[in-house]
Amino acid sequence: MFEDRRPLGEYGGTNLPVRPALRHELNPDGTLTGHPPRHCPRRHLVPDSGTFSWIVALRLHSLLCHRCRDEGHPDHEWALIDPAYDQADVEKASKAGLELLAVPPDEAAGPGRIELHLDGHAIGAVTLAVCTADRLGVLEHVQVDDEHRRRGYGRILALAAFSRLDWATGGPPWMRGHRQVRALRAVQHSAGYTWTTTLIEDTLQARGFAEWLPLPSVGEPQYCRHMLDAAARLTS
Ligand SMILES: [Zn+2]
Ligand SMILES: [Zn+2]
Repeated sequence: MFEDRRPLGEYGGTNLPVRPALRHELNPDGTLTGHPPRHCPRRHLVPDSGTFSWIVALRLHSLLCHRCRDEGHPDHEWALIDPAYDQADVEKASKAGLELLAVPPDEAAGPGRIELHLDGHAIGAVTLAVCTADRLGVLEHVQVDDEHRRRGYGRILALAAFSRLDWATGGPPWMRGHRQVRALRAVQHSAGYTWTTTLIEDTLQARGFAEWLPLPSVGEPQYCRHMLDAAARLTS
């Protein structure tokens, strides 16, 4: 069934690792600026030794570092994503490439979900609760299907959660999930929310993930009364 094979990008396909190395900034005049990375993780300057390509299979740009490749590092190419900006509401899914799709909770402060889809199929998800009143977030569960592990997807999901300061369910419809509004919120993120996590499993992989998480501690969730009430109504 060769017809079913997806077209590959210039350098690779869906098995490329993905790094959160792209950042969007909302300007005072309402326009957006995209900031590609200046360095590769080994501090090689991108303008000198990097090549950007479009990965058709993922619908994302990739970056290849020629110096990393020449030095023999197998991780010399990766796809780029902005976990705060590259999110869509689940009903707006394009069902093509790699997509972060938000599934809001039924009520504010209840558990919501951000799913990672590849060509319309969920391959991972993060569940989270956020409270705008108490400016708290709890990362509850991060899961990536076995055959899609070791590509950085768990990290992308966690960063997508941290950028989600609310689900905007109460705002005017045109603003809900609007890309520019979300990018701005991501910038505001550093100014305010306290994030905690539920207990992390005791496996090598989970411990590595926990060490990477940009949080002072893991495994001690801090739920507010709104989150507890919302969770209680969900199960009653
Ligand atoms: Zn490099
Ligand atoms: Zn609260």
